[in-house]
Amino acid sequence: MNENERDAKKLITGLRLLEPQVPHFDNPIKDVFRANLTIVGCAWVETTEGVVLIDTLNNEFAGRKAFEKVKGKIKYIIYTHGHGDHVGGARAFISDNPKIIANKYLPDRFDKYKMLAPHRGHITAVQFNMPDIPREANYVHPTDTFLGEMKINLGDKTFELYTERAETDDIVWVFVPELNAAFIGDLMIGSFPNIGNPWKPTRFALDWAKALEKIRAKEPYHVFCNGASYYYRGKRALAALDANIEVIRSLHDQVVKYINEGMHITEMIHRVKIPEHLERSPYLKKFYSRPEFFVYNVYRWYHGYFDDNPAHLIPCPEKKVIKLIFDLIGNDQKIIDKARELCDHNQFQLSLQVLDVLLQANPEHIEARKLRIELVHKLGEMDYCYMSRNAWVYYANKDIEFLKNQDITL
Ligand SMILES: [Zn+2]
Repeated sequence: MNENERDAKKLITGLRLLEPQVPHFDNPIKDVFRANLTIVGCAWVETTEGVVLIDTLNNEFAGRKAFEKVKGKIKYIIYTHGHGDHVGGARAFISDNPKIIANKYLPDRFDKYKMLAPHRGHITAVQFNMPDIPREANYVHPTDTFLGEMKINLGDKTFELYTERAETDDIVWVFVPELNAAFIGDLMIGSFPNIGNPWKPTRFALDWAKALEKIRAKEPYHVFCNGASYYYRGKRALAALDANIEVIRSLHDQVVKYINEGMHITEMIHRVKIPEHLERSPYLKKFYSRPEFFVYNVYRWYHGYFDDNPAHLIPCPEKKVIKLIFDLIGNDQKIIDKARELCDHNQFQLSLQVLDVLLQANPEHIEARKLRIELVHKLGEMDYCYMSRNAWVYYANKDIEFLKNQDITL
């Protein structure tokens, strides 16, 4: 674990996403104001004829706190994309009756969220280690949508809006030439880019790099990102853009090369590497996502499900096959012993996969559940990545709950 990864681990501690929080407010440059929560933020720009709000925080409570600062002045809200942490606070601002501008594809996202509410409740619980409850998706729809370019003139400022495909297919980023400032949503997040999420549809890595190159071409002096919770200025703004562009292009190109060589995805995720000179970049801290997720993502975008193994073309249900293999082994203890041996040699992931043969055949096996808790805790302790770390904790808690229900203490 390098310095960046240790820093990132500190950041995770104490994250309380579900508790109502009052945002932290600041005014980093003339006419630009921000409201920030733990990992989300929004910004507004004052003009001589009113305010343009870019993103809305993730919930109405925090949104109302920000609204108190701008009440009566909001002419436009711009959604940088349809993720809940950018649109979730919008209801707090609509009594000003602003125009709400978004990418043409954003309303489809809101429809999808409604359609998949139970599933999204579950995946959100795992990704953020939160209670497993259905996710409401009652977001405020845009009043105007567009594709390509759009310009808003308000008072003494111009707002250039551009649509892209990157983290999602409904991106809008904003450039204000009078301030030489770019507001780029989650196109950068102050850490290794979020290109790849085990629970989400594939993201658009190559288009993402191209979008950042378009922003770079403007040579912005100020860059606001991750909602607006990160702010870079001057040389650091350009350096952050450069580092993100280079890492995305490098990892993307490595995946393409390995696909063409016919490498299996489970080998590829371990083979693709961040270029050494970017490994410790302050702009690519490994906090939220991780390179393995990036690789899976690019692979899924370019590659079908089939891995060139005829056994996997139209496979039997996994449980049925594993049960058969377990019956051939015919011995719980053999599996437990091998998994324990691997665990003792710090091969936690391999141990987890060996143990899985027993757990798929007998999900209620007490000793196997106990060992899985130990393994998943070890994996979590070593993990710098917010998403995978949450997942390890989530699944360990599920096993602990199962054992408690059996009156078994650990
Ligand atoms: Zn996002």
